[in-house]
Amino acid sequence: MSIQLKHLTKKYEGSDTPVLENVSAHIEDNEFFAIVGPSGCGKSTLLRMIAGIIPISSGSLYLNGEVANDLAPKDRKLSMVFQSYALYPFLSVFDNIAFGLKARKQPKDLIKQRVDKALALVNLTDHRDRKPKDLSGGQRQRVALARAIANESKICLMDEPLSNLDAQLRAKMRIELKELQQKLGLTVIYVTHDQVEAMTMADHVMVLNHHHVQQIDTPLGVYQHPSNEFVASFFGTPQINLINAQYQNGSLKMDEDFIMDTDDALIEGHQYKVGIRPNQLQINSDVNNGNAQVVNVSQLGDRTMVEARLKNEQEVRIVLDGQVDIRPQQFIQIEGANGYFIFDADDRSLVSVKKGALTNA
Ligand code: ADP
Repeated sequence: MSIQLKHLTKKYEGSDTPVLENVSAHIEDNEFFAIVGPSGCGKSTLLRMIAGIIPISSGSLYLNGEVANDLAPKDRKLSMVFQSYALYPFLSVFDNIAFGLKARKQPKDLIKQRVDKALALVNLTDHRDRKPKDLSGGQRQRVALARAIANESKICLMDEPLSNLDAQLRAKMRIELKELQQKLGLTVIYVTHDQVEAMTMADHVMVLNHHHVQQIDTPLGVYQHPSNEFVASFFGTPQINLINAQYQNGSLKMDEDFIMDTDDALIEGHQYKVGIRPNQLQINSDVNNGNAQVVNVSQLGDRTMVEARLKNEQEVRIVLDGQVDIRPQQFIQIEGANGYFIFDADDRSLVSVKKGALTNA
């Protein structure tokens, strides 16, 4: 089932300002599509409009090529999985999964067949008679998932389904979910504020912020070619450095002693932001008087994170491979970067992507 959003806008009743404006996207059959953005940006609102739980203010929603704006939720042939699982505490696992099918008065043997299949798919066959309270968080989430599977709807909408689980379980469930989606050929629309979930599971990612779509792209696309500063800082940990710089005579001047030549035709005297991922910076720590002073060092095991300050007080995060012996207060020389982005300081949009080693002029 494909889904198309055309210029969707949502204003809640009594409010003049839209919470979503002009959202367009095409979600292919069998696609894992993530909607990602900070809390309050309108992710759940968009999902609820697709589900038919709340009305669309303007624009069109197409399900398999047909306008579906006014289709009743039950006729949209989709299932939903929420963060809160929404399981019935007094029903067994089996009955929770069977609930929707029973409500639709499906024949008993068909219900049993579908529930058994769904239980097997989420590895809960042995837990069929338990009550939700006797399950772990991950198992409860799998029951919610099995309920969606048993409905055999080809579109599954998920709203932060893993956010109540601890980090380890979340990582495991991410893999399980993605496997299931592929095995069942589901079209999944997955809402999350977690950039890692979006990056690891999705075929395409829609990045929302400030009521608008910022970018729709593959996970690598948003990382390697972010359309603006927001997208660049949303993906990747530690966060990308965004360093104020002025363009002068063919160079971007971030500080008196940190200047990079560029062949871009930029505006003389204009302000830009240079975006450099922390692992892209090249430094020399064996210097007496470098261009940055170390403020803090964190040993992360396989990597070392260094926070340093340029002479004009701008802070820079640097991630180095392995355990590097660098101490607070010492000076280091930032020698260049393996690639960087240039953003316009006024409208924050991407101006250029630079690849390869670039040196401090
Ligand atoms: P997200 O899922 O990204 O956290 P939501 O879609 O839940 O964001 O909310 C987007 C904005 O819409 C928020 O500012 C929120 O306060 C507002 N909002 C959500 N639901 C309603 C509602 N029923 N009535 C009015 N405003 C709402």
